[in-house]
Amino acid sequence: MKLGVYPGTFDPITRGHADIIARSLRVFDRIIVAVAHNPNKRPLFDVTERLEMVKLVTKDFTHVEVESFDGLLVQYVKKHGAQAIIRGLRATSDFEYEFQMALTNRKLDEQVETVFLMPSEEYSYLTSSIIKEVASLGGALADFVHPEVAERLRCRLRRQP
Ligand code: ADP
Repeated sequence: MKLGVYPGTFDPITRGHADIIARSLRVFDRIIVAVAHNPNKRPLFDVTERLEMVKLVTKDFTHVEVESFDGLLVQYVKKHGAQAIIRGLRATSDFEYEFQMALTNRKLDEQVETVFLMPSEEYSYLTSSIIKEVASLGGALADFVHPEVAERLRCRLRRQP
């Protein structure tokens, strides 16, 4: 049984994240999507809301679980007996940060590998931040996020002054 942990902030989950989850199921038998609290990133949605949205988007996937997590990722991975951390690589500037994180995690625990997957080209430029920007300016969100996520973005950003 190969288990992978896909960690992230998911503020909110995008079609790019969903694409990585679908691809990772071709490699792993089971995936845990681990929604990080990450208060230092000052997320728009709290962890409960982010978790709900990930659950909604992945509800039709079998072999995907969704949990929130706090603390050291390698400890979380070890606790679940997972073989690898899954991360997505976009066409833009992910490489340096991801390289640094992967090597730091390896230093912390030699047993934990990081696996990188590339999304479909149509999602390779998508970031949660850009989508929040589009939402705040009233742009169309259908190509970027699940309709329910789009609705929540509109509600949340509409309430802000
Ligand atoms: P984090 O704060 O951990 O970077 P994110 O939710 O921004 O959390 O991203 C989680 C993971 O998903 C990262 O590996 C990121 O590179 C990847 N990712 C985010 N958006 C996309 C996308 N459009 N295509 C592929 N991977 C993505």
